[in-house]
Amino acid sequence: IKKIGIITSGGDAPGMNAAVRAVTRTAASKNIEVIGFYKGYAGILDKDFVELSYSSVGGIMEKGGTILRTARVPEFKNPEIRAEAARNLKDLKVDGLVVIGGEGSLTGAKLLFEEHNIPVIGIPASIDNDIPDTDMAIGVDTCLNTAVDAMQKLKDTASSHERAFIVEVMGRGSGYIALMSGLSVGAEAVIIPEVPVDYNELTDRIWQERKRGKINCIVVVAEGAASAYSVARHFENKIGYETRITILGHIQRGGSPTAFDRILASRMGYSAVNFLLEGKFGTMVALEKGQTVTVPLEKVLSEKKVLDPKLIDLVNTLS
Ligand code: ATP
Repeated sequence: IKKIGIITSGGDAPGMNAAVRAVTRTAASKNIEVIGFYKGYAGILDKDFVELSYSSVGGIMEKGGTILRTARVPEFKNPEIRAEAARNLKDLKVDGLVVIGGEGSLTGAKLLFEEHNIPVIGIPASIDNDIPDTDMAIGVDTCLNTAVDAMQKLKDTASSHERAFIVEVMGRGSGYIALMSGLSVGAEAVIIPEVPVDYNELTDRIWQERKRGKINCIVVVAEGAASAYSVARHFENKIGYETRITILGHIQRGGSPTAFDRILASRMGYSAVNFLLEGKFGTMVALEKGQTVTVPLEKVLSEKKVLDPKLIDLVNTLS
């Protein structure tokens, strides 16, 4: 391999820059050229790229977002458009492509590999932690810390005013962020897409706790399960608290990555280059039992990540 291309694609995730830095520096140490395409698959289609070097990726690890920027490029679902991208990569003599992103981005990578034999490797980056076969994706830990920090502040106000806060967090298909942030702040309840909710039982439980003298209540809801407004409607006049709604929204995506995300991204970026050199194309770098391994993209994308039932039971037990 003489020239590696990198894209960051789909929703941005803190730690993407650390992964770009790790890929670039690992490649540079082996005298492999690196180019970064701007705005995900759009940059490949437009041949819009920047040459990356050991020194040009200095000082980016601590930055949130992605210096390569990202975009949603729906036309990439069209095989003719993918053929154009493959032609561009071949013209540019890119003989290894690192795709950093979520399931959609990894699907594009898998198709470039299957249809055009482009030597791709994926790096999972998505704040939802919904990518199968890897214990963690880049960005999850930072997102979680941001959500917990915000909820802790809300809890102060909840206690001072004896209020309930319903906090809506990201997670369209997965309740991971809701569950883990709820666990971390000792939320009274966590509403996630994986578990049907019995609002009568829930409102009654919160009301009983209120009667016993509880002075605050935090309910975390994953956007994929319900909106905070619809949860509030169920609670109206039934839980003994004045209720406030907070939707954390896009603040969960940005911010300087945590040490965990910097380390994970660095390890995955370093491993991605080494796996490419070993010819492990059409795969994704995964964290499995503390080690970086490869998993075929075909396998990753044929599965759905399931939330560990033990975690759900843990949160139910402690809340
Ligand atoms: P996030 O988890 O943050 O949503 P993602 O990578 O899943 O990240 P998507 O918007 O689903 O985000 O996908 C990013 C890009 O990947 C799309 O804009 C498109 O260019 C490409 N892509 C997504 N799905 C497909 C598909 N089925 N076939 C080919 N390319 C795809």
